[in-house]
Amino acid sequence: MDFRYTTEQDLYRQAIREWLAKNLEPRAREIEEKEDGIPSDITAGMAELGMFGVTIPEEFGGCAVPGEELIYAMITIHEVARADLSMSTPVYTLLTIGWSYIINKYGTDELKQELLPKVAEGKAFAGINTTEPGGGSDLAAIKTTALWDEGRQAYMLNGEKAYVSGPKECMKWGPPSGHCTLVKTDPASGHKGMTFIWVPAHLDGIQWTVYEDMGRMGLSTGGWIYKDVALPKKYVLGEEGKGFYTVMDGFNAARVLVVAACLGGAEKALEISGEYTAQRTTFGKPLGKYEGISFEMANDWMQLDLLKINLLRGAWMMGYESENPGSFARKDINRVISTCKCLAPTLGHEIARHGMMYHGAFGYTKETPLEMFLRGVMSYEVGAEGGLNIMRGIIARDTWGDTHNPFKD
Ligand SMILES: Cc1cc2nc3c(=O)[nH]c(=O)nc-3n(C[C@H](O)[C@H](O)[C@H](O)COP(=O)(O)OP(=O)(O)OC[C@H]3O[C@@H](n4cnc5c(N)ncnc54)[C@H](O)[C@@H]3O)c2cc1C
Repeated sequence: MDFRYTTEQDLYRQAIREWLAKNLEPRAREIEEKEDGIPSDITAGMAELGMFGVTIPEEFGGCAVPGEELIYAMITIHEVARADLSMSTPVYTLLTIGWSYIINKYGTDELKQELLPKVAEGKAFAGINTTEPGGGSDLAAIKTTALWDEGRQAYMLNGEKAYVSGPKECMKWGPPSGHCTLVKTDPASGHKGMTFIWVPAHLDGIQWTVYEDMGRMGLSTGGWIYKDVALPKKYVLGEEGKGFYTVMDGFNAARVLVVAACLGGAEKALEISGEYTAQRTTFGKPLGKYEGISFEMANDWMQLDLLKINLLRGAWMMGYESENPGSFARKDINRVISTCKCLAPTLGHEIARHGMMYHGAFGYTKETPLEMFLRGVMSYEVGAEGGLNIMRGIIARDTWGDTHNPFKD
């Protein structure tokens, strides 16, 4: 057993940390407050260092190390989150490289050729599209359909998706940007009639809207309306009718990266608190000398450290399983990753809030990035990539079986 990164992984981590601290960190407030989102020179620089290619094989323009894709992706997101506490750039990156990992695993060669080289270059957005106006947690209840039309040799997509990240980013980059989308290809068959399919955002018959969020302002969220959108077979991810299982596999990968974003941001927030409480004095002593503060910080550090190790375990299990199928039961992977996804956003929120308290009135201003992190990390408490109760439900189901399965009568 070895808990360390390899030399190559650590060199990569150090190289990107240095670049991100110099180039992204000073721009985080600008990304949060200006209309245009994440600047193209930032995504170009990230692409040059290979950050968008870590889950993409060389033959499709990336630099993936087989079996270590999620470890490298996790390192990337952790570091990006340290540099942009608004969470916009980490979430943009984690969606793009996380869902590219699933496209590479389940997509057709034609789709991979069309999309993945552009992603690796930092010139395409790839996202996830499951939530509908009727709800996001109960995926089996979605209504969007893609019915096969023999005459047109295409699936005809009709319906609506809501609260999806990345519509403006798809428009910024143009084709082939889009979303991995969960649809019903056989609506009478419940979750067995679901298919996961790539939907490029620029096809005829697609309209989009945007919402005004409370955080992560550099990355848009919005909705899609589909009216008779023709999707060729090459866009199907995995097998028709198996979409529910494909999306669940995708969520495990995406959740590893979501947790990396929460923990990277939390680590940085705790560092900021460490620096501030070392130099701010009250009653003749630095704040850090008071146990009311240092013990709370120690508690936060302990929880952060435990989660970082559990996340490494989850990322390693997924990589090992993909190289050695059958090594782990799906439920064992589910439980490790759901534990992290359930605890990390709340820990990030608490560390941000504690830091704001240590900063006194200053913590209530935009002079520190802590308020930005608090708003950004809350997106993962609310529900993005699965609500906290859904994680608890997965753990209950996969530990005690159907008697404790909240998703089944
Ligand atoms: C910033 C942000 C970005 C997002 N980006 C995307 C995206 O890119 N793509 C996408 O498809 N979706 C996205 N979402 C939507 C997200 O996936 C959903 O918010 C999530 O799945 C929950 O769905 P819902 O909001 O409809 O809440 P609901 O499903 O209506 O649930 C409401 C609340 O009840 C809880 N709950 C639900 N069922 C149970 C139960 N059985 N027991 C106990 N509690 C339960 C939920 O955890 C939640 O807190 C995003 C959300 C946010 C906030």
